[in-house]
Amino acid sequence: MLVHICCSVDSHYFLQRLREEFPNEKLVGFFYDPNIHPYSEYRLRLLDVQRSCAMLGVELIEGPYDIEGWMSAVRGYEHLPEKGARCSICFDRRFTVSAEKAREIGEKKMTSTLLTSPKKSIGQLREAGEKIASEQGVEFVTVDYRIGGGTQRQQEEAKRARLYRQDYCGCIYGLTMQREEQERLADELFSPVDGRVLPGSIEERLQLYEERLELEERGRDYRIVRQKFLNYRLKLGWVKRKKETLPSYILPYSVMKRRYTNGKVITVADGLYWFNREEIRLMTLERYNELAGTRFGRTDELVFNPPPFDTDLAVREEAGLGLWDLSPMIVLDEVPEGKLEIFIEAETYRDVREILVPL
Ligand code: SF4
Repeated sequence: MLVHICCSVDSHYFLQRLREEFPNEKLVGFFYDPNIHPYSEYRLRLLDVQRSCAMLGVELIEGPYDIEGWMSAVRGYEHLPEKGARCSICFDRRFTVSAEKAREIGEKKMTSTLLTSPKKSIGQLREAGEKIASEQGVEFVTVDYRIGGGTQRQQEEAKRARLYRQDYCGCIYGLTMQREEQERLADELFSPVDGRVLPGSIEERLQLYEERLELEERGRDYRIVRQKFLNYRLKLGWVKRKKETLPSYILPYSVMKRRYTNGKVITVADGLYWFNREEIRLMTLERYNELAGTRFGRTDELVFNPPPFDTDLAVREEAGLGLWDLSPMIVLDEVPEGKLEIFIEAETYRDVREILVPL
């Protein structure tokens, strides 16, 4: 039986129950979820499904990540809430490709771990699954493992197996709506052009879950604990002189009361140029290189290939801006004389992240 898999929390318990109910069926997992956004979240969920299937001894096939096809399919339905028409199209598409895969590999039956997700309607899934599977000559198997305390056992099993628990369904539209309702920044959608791993980001979590796999392979025990911290995201920033934008690098935790200001340098001390507005400090690239232990020749090189986030925190501290200091700090090739215009749109916010503690 081909089992379409959406995530490890749903599949881990579901596969075990399926095995009990269909002991003579060979189960083949099929991870086909191009709805998941961004791609790093897709990789994170896949990584955990691979781990879960390896634990259970279930073969797993990865489907294509055809996000463009998925987005064209749901075009016009972007604004609809979860459980609406967009979700029906989303299920249809995932079931269609899964049914084609089942037929391709000669499986006569298929099902989906979406059936066990507490937020999905079984009726809606069964209707779509049966119709689509029959078009490919495949039987859609509807099972309900939520009843009789199933959902609770699924949660316990997820905890016991230390599975990755996502907190949104998957697509960019559902995520955006959820974050708006929660009045939370959708920081999952920040993907810096420089490829830097930001604190509390999906990329950071992906690294953590890869590291835990290495620990498991070496037989080393660990804990994943949570940490509350002040997070930061820079949305947009620039420095202009005489209407010309200068290459500039804005260090993390640079926050302005108003997003725009203009003024000039009033003091130079210890390699820092003190601006007369918004407690802004400027520094030359040369000074940054000294403090960071780097050798950038131009500020735009630094912008596109910055050192790790923690290096910038150390630079701020070395320059006298320690913990709790949210003054903007900006690196320029040279700090020019005369008037400068500065724009910074950034957010600091309370956040929680996971930390891996080897034991
Ligand atoms: S909310 Fe979930 S089920 Fe609905 S369209 Fe988005 S990813 Fe698919």
